[in-house]
Amino acid sequence: METTIKVIKAQSNKYQSGYPLLMKEALVNPHVLKTPGQHLNVVDEQGVYIGKAYYGLQNKGVGWIVTNKKDQALNQTLFDEKISKAVEQRTAFYDDPDTTAFRVFNGEGDGIGGITIDYFDGYYLINFYSEGIYQFKNNVVEAISKNTNFQGIYEKKRFATDGKYLDDDDFVTGDRGEFPLIVQENGVNIAVYLNEGAMVGVFLDQRDVRKAIRDRYAYGKTVLNTFSYTGAFSIFAALGSAAKTTSVDLANRSLPKTIEQFALNELDYQEHEIYVEDVFKFFKRAVKKEKRYDTVILDPPSFARSKKTTFSAAKDYKDLLKQAIAITEDDGVIIASTNHSAVSRKKFRGFVDKAFTELGLGFKIIENYSLPDDFRVHPAYPEGDYLKVLFIQRV
Ligand code: SAH
Repeated sequence: METTIKVIKAQSNKYQSGYPLLMKEALVNPHVLKTPGQHLNVVDEQGVYIGKAYYGLQNKGVGWIVTNKKDQALNQTLFDEKISKAVEQRTAFYDDPDTTAFRVFNGEGDGIGGITIDYFDGYYLINFYSEGIYQFKNNVVEAISKNTNFQGIYEKKRFATDGKYLDDDDFVTGDRGEFPLIVQENGVNIAVYLNEGAMVGVFLDQRDVRKAIRDRYAYGKTVLNTFSYTGAFSIFAALGSAAKTTSVDLANRSLPKTIEQFALNELDYQEHEIYVEDVFKFFKRAVKKEKRYDTVILDPPSFARSKKTTFSAAKDYKDLLKQAIAITEDDGVIIASTNHSAVSRKKFRGFVDKAFTELGLGFKIIENYSLPDDFRVHPAYPEGDYLKVLFIQRV
């Protein structure tokens, strides 16, 4: 059963040209949206066909258009087609023995918004971003079964109120993995836990940045890694022969997790510094002690609240940069990252300009990263191109 939903006139061009996200304010009759996963036939006010969609409430919108073909329905065939194509497009990743963790299916970038699938050395992790797309779980699992030789499948249900993760046993089918699962990324070992809460231990979208740091920004350098989580950037820097790495993260779990990652790569963590501390407090101490670093990595969450501080990338990134600049060597490099979709590339670049100008200092952008190839982006949905990483050289 399909429900017909109409797009208002002012928005029909945008949707006719392929925009995939259904926004409530773009709809004439949003009141017909009732059951998560409801199949929708999307048309314009004249009744001209736009596409097929499903109803799923996400922070971003109320559903995703998944095809513009007239004769396609939201059924197993559609999931088979989209997922097999995505798998095929990752052949180079499957064939690379040095990298055994990557994204197989990137939501709307691969034709179905609200869902991602990651590969971890034989295991698949499905992220469901709405109760609506979760109604298609069996279709997704079947499509993965048909198109891959999986060992096991896990899931994350990221649709508690406010878009958070619903804690559960995340095992779906196949063999239960033994965790940590040790995956490879450009020859580096990474410990992954698929059944311990929302985060698995690594953010796959930073793969190219980690490699750049190891290959070009570490040798002989002192590297400060802030918001370090499991220390992935520090491990890559250490493997690139950094003189020393310093990891700073507020979360207690970050200490054992970082030690584990060092040990997995036969690195002595005691030659490095790992602090469980508020980054802003760490900055103050470093300034007091006149500590300076050659390479400073900034990878904060979009929003964070600690006892003393709240941080919002959209509001506070410029100040974060200024604090980082104060403890970077005169010829040092700051690697600044944000995944906040509300901070455009231009705005982010503006923060850098302002931070340096306000301090009366010069800089040069020497490298610029966005999402890696496995994180496919929908051509009509540039908002999905969320990752911005600038390598900034002080001059
Ligand atoms: N850079 C990491 C990912 C960072 S995730 C990587 O590449 O793997 C964001 C991290 O910021 C979380 O681990 C969280 O604990 C930490 N965090 C949030 N607010 C913080 C603060 N004020 N000080 C230090 N760490 C903070």
